[in-house]
Amino acid sequence: MIEIYNLQKSYDNTKILKNIDLTILDGEIYGLVGRSGAGKSTLLRCMNGLEQYDSGSLKINGFEIKDHSAQEIRQFRKNIGMIFQHFSLMERKTVYQNIALPMECWNYPKKEIDKRVKELLKIVDLEDKINERPRSLSGGQKQRVAIARALSLNPKILLCDEATSALDPKTTQSILLLLKKINETLGIAVVLVTHQMSVVRQVCNKMCILENGEITAKGAVGEIFMKRPQSLKNLLGDDEEEVLPLNGTNIKITYTEASVNERVLSDMAQKLGIGFSLVWAKTEKYRDMVLGWVIINVDEANVPVVGEYLTGLRARWEVLNNESQ
Ligand code: ADP
Repeated sequence: MIEIYNLQKSYDNTKILKNIDLTILDGEIYGLVGRSGAGKSTLLRCMNGLEQYDSGSLKINGFEIKDHSAQEIRQFRKNIGMIFQHFSLMERKTVYQNIALPMECWNYPKKEIDKRVKELLKIVDLEDKINERPRSLSGGQKQRVAIARALSLNPKILLCDEATSALDPKTTQSILLLLKKINETLGIAVVLVTHQMSVVRQVCNKMCILENGEITAKGAVGEIFMKRPQSLKNLLGDDEEEVLPLNGTNIKITYTEASVNERVLSDMAQKLGIGFSLVWAKTEKYRDMVLGWVIINVDEANVPVVGEYLTGLRARWEVLNNESQ
């Protein structure tokens, strides 16, 4: 479990992380998202003790990083695996030697290293590449080696810094599936720093958004995408802009998995006996749910009756005002 309270961090008198409060539970896949420069990597480096923080508290399974010596932190870091965008493999070493490296540094017996490396090669599905060198591997295979190496000391937490940003969409997909498998079968919490919203939607159950060193939204992924706070809209950018009619009233209805098959709109048209136009619709799949949005355009005079009908269905809806169009 990672517990962060009121964490502050500066570089050269510039505040980089401000009032960070965050709890990441065992077994979660937690997405840390934000624009470049928001402070995501700095927060990740604070989590594994590579960076000190100025004040506040950061505990990993009860271990308060700032209360310990460099030697203690080094020992503690065995509990945390980390992978990076550019893999950081040793080019002159084979796949086997790369994965064995952390265990060799900690002087594990050769026999134990051999057993563990072979187990890990199986988990990451690279048994046939055991004697290859990184240059003969694809990007996805290199990231698999890096994941195996990060797991070699049996960590409780895996930190991923833009781990799929250098990969094509198909390879990204396979690496995300691997991270999910590791999370589920080994019970390892995964913290994913990413600017790719599709990554968060596919594998994370919780997320937070960092903007200029501050957390501006946090919670369950489906909930945040449903509420669409401004900080999420800022990240999603132009893709989100709908072109809407200026006449009549535009009503946005958000539906969740539970109501997805309820044919809300056709029933409403029948029951209320009114016409409307469907002007925009979108469905998105998340790790654990489906979310959908539709925007309908109704005559202004019909807004109260439509509103009453939707409220009666307990649907989430809102009238979009002209500024948001
Ligand atoms: P992100 O991972 O969200 O892109 P970073 O955590 O890398 O953001 O950086 C946050 C801010 O901190 C940036 O303005 C960056 O320039 C600054 N920064 C990061 N590392 C250092 C450092 N070692 N010294 C000074 N400033 C730094």
